[in-house]
Amino acid sequence: MDKSKTDLFINSERMKDDFEVLAEFGATGEGGVHRPTFSPAHLKARDWFRDQAHAAGFEVKSDGAGNQSAILYCGPEPGSKTLLLGSHLDSVPNGGRFDGALGIVAAMESLRIVKENHIKLPFNLEVIDFTDEEGTLVGLLGSSALSGSLARETLHNPRGGREALQEGLNAAGITEDSILSARRDPHGLTGYLELHIEQGSRLLNARASIGVVTVVNGIGSYRFTFVGRADHAGTTTLTDRLDAAQGACSLALSVRRLALVGFPGSTVNVGNMIFSPGAFNIVPERVQTWVEYRSSNSKVLNQLEASLLERARAEARRFSLELEIESGGKHEPSPMSEAVQACIIEAAEKLSLKHLPLASGAGHDAQSLAGICPAGMIFVPSEGGASHSPREFTHWEDCQNGANVLLRTVLNMGDHDSHPS
Ligand SMILES: [Zn+2]
Repeated sequence: MDKSKTDLFINSERMKDDFEVLAEFGATGEGGVHRPTFSPAHLKARDWFRDQAHAAGFEVKSDGAGNQSAILYCGPEPGSKTLLLGSHLDSVPNGGRFDGALGIVAAMESLRIVKENHIKLPFNLEVIDFTDEEGTLVGLLGSSALSGSLARETLHNPRGGREALQEGLNAAGITEDSILSARRDPHGLTGYLELHIEQGSRLLNARASIGVVTVVNGIGSYRFTFVGRADHAGTTTLTDRLDAAQGACSLALSVRRLALVGFPGSTVNVGNMIFSPGAFNIVPERVQTWVEYRSSNSKVLNQLEASLLERARAEARRFSLELEIESGGKHEPSPMSEAVQACIIEAAEKLSLKHLPLASGAGHDAQSLAGICPAGMIFVPSEGGASHSPREFTHWEDCQNGANVLLRTVLNMGDHDSHPS
């Protein structure tokens, strides 16, 4: 890398100003933000994105899925390939101010530095603010539309319900058809990079400043409905009843043991149960049970899935219940590009920052992109591992370090791209 590039750093003050303005949109009393997709606060944050991009002299675009872009033509020609730098401006309900927002302000700042220093790269740069990463409507909506992995059926049965989806699309002036039109030609993409908070404690525990993400864990879910018989809770003896709660609760306890003993490093979660009829004097006839599972390894994910199904069937048999099984979908683990990881490591070492390889336990837009181009993610430490909560906090020095690693990774990718080895 020539000397003019090795001296480049982000403007920390300017990035902090951006970050603080952004945190005001949907600010909650406890220091967090509430910016569900296409809520008034989210729409204001989106306006801010466009204003900042215009002010910095970038081209501003949006696509049919509502993804917003700020483009810097620093490549050899306007039609050159593009390196995407992304994250998201939506939040979970009553979430934290760092999740997504940090990646956007760091990406915007990186483009400003490249522009101000008249750096030429072998590709153009594009900051992209993805629609509905968190799943108010669908989850990874914008990135899966862009990568072509979004199925129309997903829009017909969205996580947040049809009504919420329709309302959200109306607020943003987009339609189901326009969402599916947002698919991009992968040949136009050099890669994808994202800076994000870790949302866990591994970096802090290892006293490392930078996480180099190796893979975004795969995830799947099932709804198991245990079916017994409603009876009088006082007159039916314990041995005579077909109690759906026994199967559901026994499953909740046994899947944790199953994962701990048989699948170290994987996670399972029983996130919800609904009892019907749901009265304390009636033996539960139906209990719907939502079970989610995750792993960084595709083979392990499949084995874990098979074991969960087997466990659910065994619990139903044990209590003489019927079992209805409904899949909530499955995403395979998404490995990050080794070449991009090498560029991130090179950047962290140049800045003398301790780095650590990590699997991401949380889902991210990078998993959509990994299917169509080389993708990489940079993590910075989360105090107390807290996220999706107003307690979410990352020291500004860590944010600044992460942004400098992002900028330098862009430059490294440019160097490797122009001097193929
Ligand atoms: Zn996020």
